[in-house]
Amino acid sequence: MAIQKTAGFILKKRELRETSLVLIIYTRDFGKIRTVVKGVRSPENLFRSSYELFALDEVVFYEKKKKDFFTLSQCELVDFFPRIRADFERLLYALYFIETLDAVTVFDDANKALYELLQNSLSLLSTKASAKRTARIFEVRLLNILGFMPTVNACAGCGSRIANSSGRFSFSLGGVLCKGCFEKDRRASSITAGTINFISKILELPHEKATRIKVSNAVGRELERILKNFLRYHMDTKSKTLNFIEKIGV
Ligand SMILES: [Zn+2]
Repeated sequence: MAIQKTAGFILKKRELRETSLVLIIYTRDFGKIRTVVKGVRSPENLFRSSYELFALDEVVFYEKKKKDFFTLSQCELVDFFPRIRADFERLLYALYFIETLDAVTVFDDANKALYELLQNSLSLLSTKASAKRTARIFEVRLLNILGFMPTVNACAGCGSRIANSSGRFSFSLGGVLCKGCFEKDRRASSITAGTINFISKILELPHEKATRIKVSNAVGRELERILKNFLRYHMDTKSKTLNFIEKIGV
């Protein structure tokens, strides 16, 4: 039987019967896969670092599925992201990233851009960069990669250029509307020129450089509100982790 080798991040983990584990892994080459690890008898095996959430592993699995599951034969830890785990706020954001990625992806659909987005976001979360800013960059890029927000520099209604002016942001059309197109989505949310500019810079700059864009608190808050509602529009459920982050105010 053919075996496959790739790298991946643990998105979900649960015990299955007495000696098995189910791991949902977002892999570089196969997208999100459902795997089972058999014969995990001892407690130390059950809690191996490589099985923990958002750990990056090298994994080997059998290509043939059994009841929707790939059988995992090896799972070796590459990065445990210890600096994230040592900081409660960063830990919550890492959990938010994997929860969101899981919610917006289907199984067995490879997408290298999404894999790299998660990798870059966790790497950035391991530095001194603001966790909040890292989350906004993650959200903007995620929505862009998924095609939900193709551009913010042109009107999502008519394609005319949007330059340095406020407008409205339409969740259903996936972008900013010019004044002439406001009636195409009456539920669109107001957005300032500063926030439009911030989004377009996040999309233009390399990942880590986007943390250095200077913006006012008002723009930061506006972007947070718009992205939260936009993601909610595309996700089946509300993000439990984001709700918790808001509740405790980190
Ligand atoms: Zn327009």
